[in-house]
Amino acid sequence: MSGNGFRVEHRYLELPNSFYTRVKPTPLKDARMVCFNHSLAEDMGFRADSEANWTGIGAGTELLEGMDPVAMKYTGHQFGVYNPDLGDGRGLLLWETVGPDGRRWDWHLKGAGMTPYSRFGDGRAVLRSTIREYLCSEAMYGLGIPTTRALFMVSARDPVRRESIETAAALVRVAQSHIRFGHFEFAAHHEGPDAVKTLLEHVIALHFPHLIDLPEDERRSRWFEEVVERTARLIADWQAVGFCHGVMNSDNMSIIGDTFDYGPYAFLDDFDAGYICNHTDQGGRYAYNRQPQVGFENCRFLATALLPIMDEDDVRRGLRRYEVAYNDRFLQNMRDKLGLAQEEESDLSLIMDTFSMMHEHHVDYTLFFRAISNLHSRGHAPVRDLFVDRSVADQWLERYEERLLKEPRAHDEREYAMRGVNPKYILRNYLAQQVIQEAQNGDYEPMKALLKVLERPFDEQPENEAYAALPPDWGKHLSISCSS
Ligand code: AMP
Ligand code: MG
Repeated sequence: MSGNGFRVEHRYLELPNSFYTRVKPTPLKDARMVCFNHSLAEDMGFRADSEANWTGIGAGTELLEGMDPVAMKYTGHQFGVYNPDLGDGRGLLLWETVGPDGRRWDWHLKGAGMTPYSRFGDGRAVLRSTIREYLCSEAMYGLGIPTTRALFMVSARDPVRRESIETAAALVRVAQSHIRFGHFEFAAHHEGPDAVKTLLEHVIALHFPHLIDLPEDERRSRWFEEVVERTARLIADWQAVGFCHGVMNSDNMSIIGDTFDYGPYAFLDDFDAGYICNHTDQGGRYAYNRQPQVGFENCRFLATALLPIMDEDDVRRGLRRYEVAYNDRFLQNMRDKLGLAQEEESDLSLIMDTFSMMHEHHVDYTLFFRAISNLHSRGHAPVRDLFVDRSVADQWLERYEERLLKEPRAHDEREYAMRGVNPKYILRNYLAQQVIQEAQNGDYEPMKALLKVLERPFDEQPENEAYAALPPDWGKHLSISCSS
């Protein structure tokens, strides 16, 4: 490491020791550095002159001075059922660092081997799922949506049994916090009110410093409102880009409102409101159109965990923020996507009808919004081409053009703004699938090339047009299993 400009802290260890267990990583065999996020390292306050120097950290064979790895204890509701036995089953919090800009970063090594919370798992992460997490967290960041990040990943030779035998990998995931709703559920349901209080004050001190000086009751209720609102806004942002998380269990909900734990996620290709990306989710509990409701249910689980230390009315009031925050953000997102600066009463029905039309006619979600972001520079054809029945497109375009007459902005000004919110490039499942196959054959260049494209999803990048194409037939509706 050089130009090391961060300070090491490990504030998580200030929590009562029931919140963690010290565990050393179990080494991986013949690990190799395959991808390192240099610009993120710079944001965190250091420069990695030699990527290879970090391989040992990823492989679990080396720790830097100050690293004190712990598996965090949490519980949570999985598919609606409470599970008291959860915790970091294959990840370890190595340490926390604070960069020159004051930003705090948890370093979490995912795939580090078994812990007391591994239950039936082997403590490992496979190459396929590690690449998927790396790609998607960086894609989300590029889209401007709060998320954990990927600092670097190593691949190894250790065989890992999933549906078939795969190989192991490990990811150093970083985030301002790795504390989940499930941490609060653990505290409330197993440790008692003091533990909830300690955890809550810890989270406020580290991540909500603007609330510290408020009187206790107000501090707690304002904090809960903020958590609820951040969660609601996050999900409104997912809906706007067509992101399906796939496993919205309460242990996968970040207390600071990051997109957290990338498993069988997907971005919509053709719009399907009830799309289920996780093939183990047969009931569609976490389908695309259920995400807003599930986000609320998760806030309710958090609310229940806060009842021992908060006034019931304050908790209720906090929960009520969800619907307002979600609706406001969602409406604003959709107005921005359609380029509607002037508020008209009929806008909501235009938005809902647009969704119904896309659903009924299987229109590609991303390409549709990108095409209407270039309507007056490139004409109707790119929009019409997304429809089997062109007359449906024509009818919609007629209505839309009429609505645009009420807009104060010039076409080019509006469309410029629209291209800043309607991405040209998203991480389609088939794109991830392709680079995973290349990586499994030892070539990581395609993964890096894809990452470069996803860094700037709103830019035209004419040289990368191929990444913006419709998925090939084999690449539609890839269903991803939870086993990662
Ligand atoms: P997830 O569905 O990935 O959020 O995981 C749910 C829980 O299972 C978490 O507590 C994970 O740490 C744990 N887990 C997932 N995969 C494994 C694994 N391969 N070995 C041990 N624990 C795991
Ligand atoms: Mg998880």
